Amino acid sequence: METLKERALRAMPGGVNSPVRAFRAVGGEPIFARRASGAELETEDGRRLIDYCMSFGPLILGHAHPDVVGAITDAAARGTSYAVTTRAEIELAEMIREAVPSMERVRLVSSGTEACMTAVRLVRGYTGKSKVLKFSGCYHGHADCMLVKAGSGVAGIASASSAGVPEGCAADTLVARYNHIEDVEALLAEHGNDLAGIIVEPVAANAGLMLPEEGFLHSLRRLADQHQALLVFDEVINGFRFTYGGYQSICGIQPDLTCLGKIIGGGMPVGAVGGRADIMESLAPLGNVYQGGTLSGNPVSVASGLATLKRLREDQPYPVLEQRTARLVAGIKTAASEAGIPIQIPAIGSIFAMMFTEHVIHDFDDVMATQQDLYVNVFHNCLQQGVYLAPSPVEVSFVSTAHTDEHIDKTIEVIGQAITRLKT
Ligand SMILES: *Cc1c(COP(=O)(O)O)cnc(C)c1O
Repeated sequence: METLKERALRAMPGGVNSPVRAFRAVGGEPIFARRASGAELETEDGRRLIDYCMSFGPLILGHAHPDVVGAITDAAARGTSYAVTTRAEIELAEMIREAVPSMERVRLVSSGTEACMTAVRLVRGYTGKSKVLKFSGCYHGHADCMLVKAGSGVAGIASASSAGVPEGCAADTLVARYNHIEDVEALLAEHGNDLAGIIVEPVAANAGLMLPEEGFLHSLRRLADQHQALLVFDEVINGFRFTYGGYQSICGIQPDLTCLGKIIGGGMPVGAVGGRADIMESLAPLGNVYQGGTLSGNPVSVASGLATLKRLREDQPYPVLEQRTARLVAGIKTAASEAGIPIQIPAIGSIFAMMFTEHVIHDFDDVMATQQDLYVNVFHNCLQQGVYLAPSPVEVSFVSTAHTDEHIDKTIEVIGQAITRLKT
């Protein structure tokens, strides 16, 4: 009989609707999900896995949380899309404003990519300038001007990282190394007059995990102001992950615009861009920066997001999430040190990344210099033992409120054994 994989490959490019699901970064057979509940994912071949991928971030409450499923079911029964404004959309925008006060006005979209694409258009439309600065290893969705890598030299004008992105488009993006403010200063010395904005993941969680060093984000705020440019925090992963609100409330920096996604949709497609009222009001219909969407503010997605945020606001699970994650990380570190395997596990709140190196991670070059083959080996050993880690050495793993102490104990044991086995 034809396998699911064979059917998938015939029907969809690479058998997937998003590349990382093909497991190219780890090799081997991709998994096929049939259901999930809490911290556990069940595959089509009947394996039950403790899930640390968690849909790459939206599921901070775990899979199929009853509040979220209930809200989705109720909303769907009242109609799945109206394309006129609803009370629930207003409520979600209000909850976001309250939790992230720099977002004076909020526009809901359907993905993180759309949020970032709109933020980039807004910074250009508002300032009338063309160049946008981003950092190596930060991901801002798959809009043309963000699908770029550093050109020749460490910092400079970008070149396209995907076919189909015109070089002319990439040339309006500048790329600097994360945590290297001197790169930003050098780029601004040359292109400062043309700088429309700087976009950054305050905690960079799409390149392993890179934590911002003392002063880095503050310097970005200062340099953006000095050049009459806007500062955009891409908090699509960060938002509501470390606290009920943005990382901006932790670091004490007010960006001009913020992008959200993932958690604010609770597993349904949602994104949001928001920020200073005068900037946001350059969006159509008030201003001349166009953005729109048939399914923007979709009632089913909004219901899912509202249920998720309400649960988080009420339960404030962040200290517990952080403790569980810290215990897991400590357990892995102990196993690695007993096995004599050098490892770095940057962690914050409920995310962590296992990187096999003895060097502390500062930037994307450090991430790329880690022993990714060791991660791949550990990943497969864990998968065999029922623990599903992020299927790529450059993605983070996510802990949810559904991960119990028993899940954590089992995971420490499984990862510990996998690391010990690296010696042989
Ligand atoms: C996931 C992500 C995006 C893109 O969001 P999609 O919903 O996948 O389009 C953008 N920025 C960051 C920081 C992300 O983690």
